[in-house]
Parts: sequence; structure tokens; C-alpha cells
Amino acid sequence: MSDTMTETPTVTVDEVSIARLHGFACWTCGAVTHQLAPYDDVAVAGTGRTWTVFRCAHA
Ligand SMILES: [Zn+2]
Repeated sequence: MSDTMTETPTVTVDEVSIARLHGFACWTCGAVTHQLAPYDDVAVAGTGRTWTVFRCAHA
């Protein structure tokens, strides 16, 4: 337990699309036709997995 741990946002499977989690679509806007760049790591609640997500390279 830590109140300073803000590095990795936690999401639930229900609130994100698989495409976004897998880096196929922009994390913030969902675009799939833009060039994407690594953006952040997110933890998915209940899975113990952390994924690197992507967003538009020039947002
Ligand atoms: Zn975007």
C-alpha cells in the first residue's frame, strides 16, 4: 500500500478496448490510422498484467 504510487494507472477490462491495450489504437483518442508512439504503462485490475499503451505520435 502506497499513497505515492501514481505511476501506473489501473483500468478495468470493461472500460478499455483490447485494441487500445494492445497498442493497436491510440490510448487517448482511439485512432488507428495515426502513427502511434509508446505512451504509458497501465495495469489491468484483476489480471496482474501491465500493458504498454500507445497514443498518437504527434498529438
Ligand atoms: Zn490519438
